[in-house]
Amino acid sequence: MSKQKPKVAFYWCASCGGCEEAVVDLAEDILKVVEAVDIVFWPVALDFKKSDVEAMEDGSIAVSFINGAVRLSEQEEMVKLLRQKSQLVVAFGSCSHLGGIPGLGNFWNKESIFRRAYETTPSTDNPDKTVPLEQTEVDGKVLTLPKFYDTVYALHQVIDVDYYLPGCAPPKDLIMNAVGAILEGKLPPRGSVLSPNKSLCDDCDRNDSKPEKLSITEIKRPWEVIIDAEKCFLAQGIICMGPATRTGCGERCIEANMPCRGCFGPTDQVFDQGAKFLSAIASILDTDDEKEIEKLVDSIDDPAGTFYRFSLPASILRRKRMETIQ
Ligand code: SF4
Ligand code: SF4
Repeated sequence: MSKQKPKVAFYWCASCGGCEEAVVDLAEDILKVVEAVDIVFWPVALDFKKSDVEAMEDGSIAVSFINGAVRLSEQEEMVKLLRQKSQLVVAFGSCSHLGGIPGLGNFWNKESIFRRAYETTPSTDNPDKTVPLEQTEVDGKVLTLPKFYDTVYALHQVIDVDYYLPGCAPPKDLIMNAVGAILEGKLPPRGSVLSPNKSLCDDCDRNDSKPEKLSITEIKRPWEVIIDAEKCFLAQGIICMGPATRTGCGERCIEANMPCRGCFGPTDQVFDQGAKFLSAIASILDTDDEKEIEKLVDSIDDPAGTFYRFSLPASILRRKRMETIQ
């Protein structure tokens, strides 16, 4: 009898769909994956149901790749179910790893998000202030929707996670390396982020262009200047999260002459990516004058959203205090 292939599941929670695209973008390499494994659950591409997963034996899935943050009760249920059925769970992509862009919702709560989405956006015409309800009765039948939580969670804040594949979205070579390591049983210690543990600056071609003492007197946004494609962004006064970000993406944004936004999250040595970057930027502001510093900081558009763009739920801050949200 032929040896059974390992069973693999893919699932998405609060995400944009880019991580699913990253799997599809494996192109012909996906055939190697399909040859080596049995995909037993992948709602975006294949017609499996929750009941199919419920019917599986606990631990019968070799690995579940879960992308997206957790913001709905349905997502919480599904990731708990997949945890129960899986030997390994890999948090796939920034949103699952750290909370990601949907995690910026932690600056608000359910009420303020619903108010904005269903009442106050300029294109909304909703005089009855209709919002989605968890239960609605239609023709004597009760229709239900998942509960929308006030807080967005990274995956490890809801279930135990074995490995993390960083990136928005994770690049092809990291995905293939991870799949290979899992199939060959050559995995690093549990809890590892499957990307080199050093900063993006260490691998960046522009690192050598940094002056010995980096100092900036002005902070500019990329569209305000003509960017020198050879020179470190920070040396040009443009916010680049490279010093606080893990390498492994192939410097995708830098190669496209755009600064790093931090999607790979921090290295193992850094607890809070935003705080690390704040301290990096504070050390290169070229003034001791309080007013000047205030002016420089004020020139950073949306500092919290810039420094915690991908990592707010997993940061020390986690979310804005509920009582301060209007
Ligand atoms: S700050 Fe950005 S541009 Fe400068 S060396 Fe680091 S990654 Fe490269
Ligand atoms: S350069 Fe930064 S933001 Fe861009 S892919 Fe790499 S880690 Fe992500």
